[in-house]
Amino acid sequence: MIRTFGNHAFTDPPIKSGDTVLAGNFMQHTPGTVICEGVEGVTVEGGLFVNCLIPDSWIWRHGNNCQIEFCANRHPEMVAHGLPAEPDDCPHRSPTMVDVEVSREDAVKLKTGLKPFTTTTRKDGNGLDETVFTETKYVYTDRVLKPKIKAKVGP
Ligand SMILES: [Zn+2]
Repeated sequence: MIRTFGNHAFTDPPIKSGDTVLAGNFMQHTPGTVICEGVEGVTVEGGLFVNCLIPDSWIWRHGNNCQIEFCANRHPEMVAHGLPAEPDDCPHRSPTMVDVEVSREDAVKLKTGLKPFTTTTRKDGNGLDETVFTETKYVYTDRVLKPKIKAKVGP
């Protein structure tokens, strides 16, 4: 059956043998996650399969199959979906602290949390003074492990 799926991130995709997948979000939190064990004869014409291990019997035409090592410090919302929590000094952290511009609203949150930020002034596009809020912090970066797989041709 030709099917378009909705959001099924962090769960085993509800794809059935013989399906042709046009779209859907099947993203997993950990690279190389096995999906759809025993489901065969599937053709993928599109969809977000980030971190999925595409079964050998499937025909892959189009879609996103990037393998990304997500950082739990950058994506704390994924910890609730099973991404292991990490210490603050995880391997994804920048070696030194960097200045990151933040919104006025975020600066208020930093002030409330007694976290350090600086305030400077610059000219905006109209030549008027504009307040710039800067937080000095470590930044966390996800690691892309391998590029998107090549499209397979034919059955
Ligand atoms: Zn990390």
